[in-house]
Amino acid sequence: MRRHYNDGMRAAACRFLLVLFSGSLLGYAATNPLWTTQAVPFRIADNLYYVGSQDLASYLVVTPRGNILINANLATSPPQIRASVEKLGFHWADTKILLNSQAHYDHMAGAAEVIRETHAKNMVMDGDVSVVESGGKTDFLAPSANIAGYAPARVDRVLRDGDTVVLGGVTLTAHKTAGHTRGCTTWTLRAHLPGEPAGTTRNIVIVGGTAFWSEYKFVAGPGGKISYPGIVQDFQHTFAELHALPCDVFLGAHGEYFGLPAKLKRYRQDGPKVFIDPAGYQRYVAAAQATFEQAVREQQAARR
Ligand SMILES: [Zn+2]
Repeated sequence: MRRHYNDGMRAAACRFLLVLFSGSLLGYAATNPLWTTQAVPFRIADNLYYVGSQDLASYLVVTPRGNILINANLATSPPQIRASVEKLGFHWADTKILLNSQAHYDHMAGAAEVIRETHAKNMVMDGDVSVVESGGKTDFLAPSANIAGYAPARVDRVLRDGDTVVLGGVTLTAHKTAGHTRGCTTWTLRAHLPGEPAGTTRNIVIVGGTAFWSEYKFVAGPGGKISYPGIVQDFQHTFAELHALPCDVFLGAHGEYFGLPAKLKRYRQDGPKVFIDPAGYQRYVAAAQATFEQAVREQQAARR
């Protein structure tokens, strides 16, 4: 269980950690029920659908040349994701490309199965490639009770910051927003939302992750080494990048990042426009940055 400083489920997460903490050959996987509870899939843009669980987000980008799946989630998630894809009327075997938000197990443990079943090409940001190919073993936090191992997955294409993934006329841009993991990736695309005037498109941002917890060391000192050289600069770059990205539709790797439960309540009546939330996006980025800067100050103070 990851404990995110800036999420309201931290106390609950700690309880689950105590209750569900269990060692296994692969690691210490503990899961939040919201991560494993099936959600009804829904449409966000003409060619973008939510196919994740109640909190672990997966997105399906649909194109005439096949589909792109963002996030395979837990080892137990692929059958749920597949059920959502098929419920929407799409074919699992049309999944041509697998992308991800970050190389932690809650977004990547299902990758090997998705690739085996669909033969999708696995594209991963540099910085996370060895983590994916080692099944989490080379994560800079490993070994850690918060970092479960998972089935390794071969990487077919290594992405760099700003690279694009193009399929069937749809372009996704990979923004390296590292720190949470060394290849944490924020995806953007432009798309038309159902119900909006023809010919208009929106900027869609799928945040990769900005959180950290007490194991992350930003300052070397008596408490130990820095997590990895450049982690502070990575987070600073991430916040600058996220602040600069044009955002109309605010999405992310976890539903909690963008207030999914509350927005879904309005979705039935108001439709996909409930996800148009540029102010909420800027608030999220600003709060995450403030949390990070506070932690750096506290670690610096502790060293003195
Ligand atoms: Zn993570």
